[in-house]
Order: sequence, then structure tokens, then C-alpha cells
Amino acid sequence: MPSCRACGSTAGDLVLDLGEQPPCDLFPAAADPGPDPLFPLRMWLCGQCSLAQLLEDPGTREEPAGVEPKALTDQAAHAVRVLRDAGVVRPGATVIEFGSPHGGSWLPLLRAEGMVDAAPGEPADVVLDCFGLMHEADQRAAMAGRAERLAPGGVLLMQYHSLASILAGKQWNALRHGHFAYYSTPAAITLAASAGLRPGRSWTFPLYGGTVLLELGRDLTPAQATEERVRAERAAGVADAAVVGGLGREAEAGGARLRELLTDRAKAGKRVIGYGAASRAVVLLWSAEIDIDLLPVIVDASPAKQGRRMPATRIPVETPRLLAGSPPDAVLLFVPDLLPEVRAAHPALGRPGCEWITV
Ligand SMILES: [Zn+2]
Repeated sequence: MPSCRACGSTAGDLVLDLGEQPPCDLFPAAADPGPDPLFPLRMWLCGQCSLAQLLEDPGTREEPAGVEPKALTDQAAHAVRVLRDAGVVRPGATVIEFGSPHGGSWLPLLRAEGMVDAAPGEPADVVLDCFGLMHEADQRAAMAGRAERLAPGGVLLMQYHSLASILAGKQWNALRHGHFAYYSTPAAITLAASAGLRPGRSWTFPLYGGTVLLELGRDLTPAQATEERVRAERAAGVADAAVVGGLGREAEAGGARLRELLTDRAKAGKRVIGYGAASRAVVLLWSAEIDIDLLPVIVDASPAKQGRRMPATRIPVETPRLLAGSPPDAVLLFVPDLLPEVRAAHPALGRPGCEWITV
């Protein structure tokens, strides 16, 4: 029986079952014939604290990201400006970052604002967690570990891709191995309370279709906007297993739609190239049973992924330079946040007749 990674409750519901999936961080060499290993990929919603979470994890190690999307670095700069205006980021204040294994550190930006790294083991005025916490299997212990590092009056800044956005955008393929938690704001607040922290202000950013930055501290009072966010997310059904379970129906429908679209293009003799060998592309391709016959290649700017193939398929990953040589009839973009930068980097794809498909 599952028990909650945050509150330990065994009451809850299986809300999304994507069956057996390849680990989305394991890109085999292109010449490796497979078969690749498969593991169950399932999301469970705690009936007690309403944290949506990964049910089981194969424990494979994630490869570090080679290239940070510009959307991610732009958002970091935007968030730091917002936090400076809010008085959280200020010269002389100390900072600790609990980072994401995928990269994307804010420390260079914070140092440029005059913030100072806390000494090892010492508390800090600002503890930053930007997509780090979701990678922790034991959510309660991880939250406690962050709270422990707070200096008196200090704040923990927790940034997450919100479950409300995942639901609104039907982003069922956000579910992946290695990502243990999918926070709604109410569930994040309950988790923080287990470590003695209370919410203060909160901000949202368009990244990934809706990213929340939540301020937590020992003596904070919820800002009106934070209370409104909690109400709005509850009303949207973030704690309702029937609503979150809609992701499962969307997974089937979304996979079928993509397969149909690519089959159409293949029949019409159109050449389609995928862009962005992201983890969510792995889940989508496997769920939709799409292989090299429907999608001959995916390009990705990360040198670490080139010369490899998409897990559990024969689709090779190649350099984006491929796009310059012979522009395809259509580009299938797996990471919609990349659209502006991909368009800017490959003007040849802007010609009339080149179709852009976002998933
Ligand atoms: Zn729970």
C-alpha cells in the first residue's frame, strides 16, 4: 500500500497510470539495439494532505541538462527582479540554494544583486528552492532540511510548476520518474506547515504554463493574493481525485491525437522533425506508440543527447544544425516554451508552408 511522501497517510487515489515506461533520463547510444528497461509510471493523490506524487521510481540517475532553455534563464532574471522589488533580494543578505539536478541556478543573479553565500552549515536569510524539492523522495524530510537552514526572520522561496497549471494545460506528460511531487499551492502549504513554516507572498510566472514562487517563513502571514490562489486552486479541483484523474483520460486522447496527426503527415509525404528531446517527449512518444516510421528524427541543442536515441524507440537525436541543411515540412515542438527561441535561431523555418506543431 502506498504511503504519502509528505504526511505518511495511506489513504489516497491512483490518479494517473501511464503503464510501463522507459526511464526518461536514459538516452541509449543510437547503436544500442535495446530493448530498454521499463518501469511503472503512476501518480497518486494523497487523500490527507492532497500532495500529488510519483508512486514508484526506478532510481535511475538523471543526466544533467546540457543546455538551459532561454525561457528558464529569462524567468530566473524576471523572478529576481520581482524579489528585489519585494525586498527579499537585497545586498548583504545571505543565501543558500537547494538546486535542481537539471541546472538553472539563480546564484549568479543573486550574487550580482549583492547577496552573499551562507557559509557551509550556516543558516541563511534566504533559502532558495527552484524546482529542487520535487526531486526528493522523502518530501517531509526534505522540507524539514530546508527549514532548518533558515536564519531568524529568514524566508524559504519555493518555486514549482503548479498542479493547477498541469490540470489547466492537460499536461499529463509532466509526470516522470525522478520527479516525486507535483505541488498544488494548498499541498505545498500543508507540507511547509509540517516543518513549522507558514506562507506569505506568492508570485506566478508563465514558465511551463504556470509556475508559482511561494514565500515561506516561521512568522509570516498569508498575503491576500496567496489566500486567493489557494481558493482558486481548490475550486479548480487540485485536491479532488476525480478532477486530477482527468489527466489519465487526457493522456489517452492526447497520445491518439498526436499519432493521428503524424500518420496524416506521413501519408501526405510530409517530412516532420521533432524538436526538444525532453523527458516529457519520452513519455508522450511511448504512450502514443510513435517510432521512427512516423517521426524520423528529433533535434536537440544538448551535446549530451546527440548520437543517442529516444528511450524505447529507434528515433535518433541529432544536432539542430540538421534544420539548416534541408528544412522540414513541419516541426513538432515538444517544449512549447522553446517556440520563440527556436524560431529566432532557425529563420529558414519561418518560411510559409513550414508547419509548427506544439504538443
Ligand atoms: Zn499526504
